[in-house]
Amino acid sequence: MVARFKTQVGIVGAGPAGLMLSHLLHLHGIDSIVLEARSRQYCEERVRAGVLEQGSVDLLHRSGLGTRLDREGMRHEGIEIGLNRKRFRIPLSELTGGKAVTVYGQHEVVKDLIARRLADGGDLRFECGEVSAHCLESERPLLRTSGASGEAEIHCDFIAGCDGSHGVCRPSIPVSALSTYERSYPFAWLGILAAAPPSRGELLYMHHERGFALYSMRSPAITRLYLQCRPDEDLDQWSDDRIWSELHTRLDCDDGWQPIEGRILQKGITGMRSFVVEPMQFGRMFLAGDAAHIVPPTGAKGMNLALADVVVLSEALRAYYKKNSTGPLDRYSNVCLRRVWKAQRFSWWMTSLLHCFEDASPFDRRRQLAELDYLTGSRAAAASLAENYVGLTMEF
Ligand SMILES: Cc1cc2nc3c(=O)[nH]c(=O)nc-3n(C[C@H](O)[C@H](O)[C@H](O)COP(=O)(O)OP(=O)(O)OC[C@H]3O[C@@H](n4cnc5c(N)ncnc54)[C@H](O)[C@@H]3O)c2cc1C
Repeated sequence: MVARFKTQVGIVGAGPAGLMLSHLLHLHGIDSIVLEARSRQYCEERVRAGVLEQGSVDLLHRSGLGTRLDREGMRHEGIEIGLNRKRFRIPLSELTGGKAVTVYGQHEVVKDLIARRLADGGDLRFECGEVSAHCLESERPLLRTSGASGEAEIHCDFIAGCDGSHGVCRPSIPVSALSTYERSYPFAWLGILAAAPPSRGELLYMHHERGFALYSMRSPAITRLYLQCRPDEDLDQWSDDRIWSELHTRLDCDDGWQPIEGRILQKGITGMRSFVVEPMQFGRMFLAGDAAHIVPPTGAKGMNLALADVVVLSEALRAYYKKNSTGPLDRYSNVCLRRVWKAQRFSWWMTSLLHCFEDASPFDRRRQLAELDYLTGSRAAAASLAENYVGLTMEF
C-alpha cells in the first residue's frame, strides 16, 4: 500500500537550504513537504559552518528568525590575517560602510528553522527512508520514499533538491544535461571544537610555513580551530596533545597572544573542493546549496550561498504562484550562478593565498608572500577582501 500526498513544492534535505526554502515559501503562502534522511537530533547537532554574511543575517531578521541570533550571535566587525607570528586586522565594517559578519553556528540556524517550521505547522519528515525523484520533465514531478514506515509518493508542482553534495537529486538529472566544473586541493582541514573561551574577539587566518591555521569561535565558551593537513590524514595519529602543540606552533604570536586550551569535544577532517554544476535546474527540479556547488571553507561561503540560492528560488516560486509568471524560474540558474562563481573565485583565492602548497616553486612561494604583504599593507586590497567576506549584495 503506497501512501499518496500532494504538495506544491517537494523539498529534499533539511539543511540550511531546504529548511529556509520551506520557511520562505510558507511566508509566501506556498505549501511544501521536506524529506530528510537523518533524524532531527542529527541535523540539529551537526557542527559545520559558523560565519553568517551580512545578507544572511538580514535574511534571518526579515523572515522572523532573529531573536536567538541577536542574543547569542557574535557580530564581528573585523578579521585578522596572520603572517610570521604577526597579525594584521582587516576592518570589515570600516571598509564596507558598516557591514559585518556574525558568528552563529550552522546547527543553531538549523535548530531555529526546524523549531519555526514546526511551530508554523510545517510538514518536515525526518528519517524518511530512501528518496527518489521522478518525472522531472513533466508537469507533475514525483518524490518516492521507502523506509521502515512504508512507501509513499509525494506529487508536487516542483522539486527542490537541497540534499547536499551526496544527495539523490543531482544524480537523478541526466548526466548529458549538466556541465560540471571542479578543482580539488592537495590538503584538507583538521578541525576541533574545544571547551575553551575565545582568547580573542575576532577570527584569525594564519599563514605559517608548516601550513595554514584558523582560530575561530562558536560561543563565549567554545572555540573552533583548524589546521591544514593532508587529505588522507589519519585522525588516530592526532592525540589532543599533538593537536594543541601544532596549533601553538602555527598560531602563537610575537606579542604573546596564544589560543586558550580546553577539552577537545569533537575532531574531524574536512576535505577541500571547488565544484559547480550548470545549470542548477532541470525540468521542474531546482538544485540549491551544496547539491549544486561546493566551495572550500576558507572563504566561509558554503552556508551563505545555500541561503542566497533559496532566496532566489522562493521569489521565483512566488512569481509563479502569485503572478503566473515563469520568467524568474527560468532565470533561477543564471541568477544564482553569477553569485556562485564570485564566491568560488573568492574561496579559491583565500585558499590559495593562505595555504602551503607542497609543490610550490620558489617563484610561487615568493609571489604568495608578496600577495600577503600587499593585502596586509594596502587599503584597496583589504577593501576587496572585506567586500567579499561580508558578502556581495543578494540579487533576485
Ligand atoms: C563535513 C562538512 C563540514 C563543513 N564545514 C564547514 C566549515 O567549517 N565552514 C564553512 O564555511 N562551511 C563548511 N561546510 C559547508 C557548509 O556547511 C555547507 O555549505 C552547508 O551545509 C550547505 O547547506 P545545504 O543545506 O545546501 O546542505 P546540507 O547542510 O548538506 O544539507 C543537506 C541535507 O540533505 C540531507 N540529505 C542528503 N541526502 C538525502 C536524501 N537522499 N534524502 C533525504 N535527505 C537527504 C542531509 O542529511 C542534509 O540534512 C562544511 C560542509 C561539510 C559537509
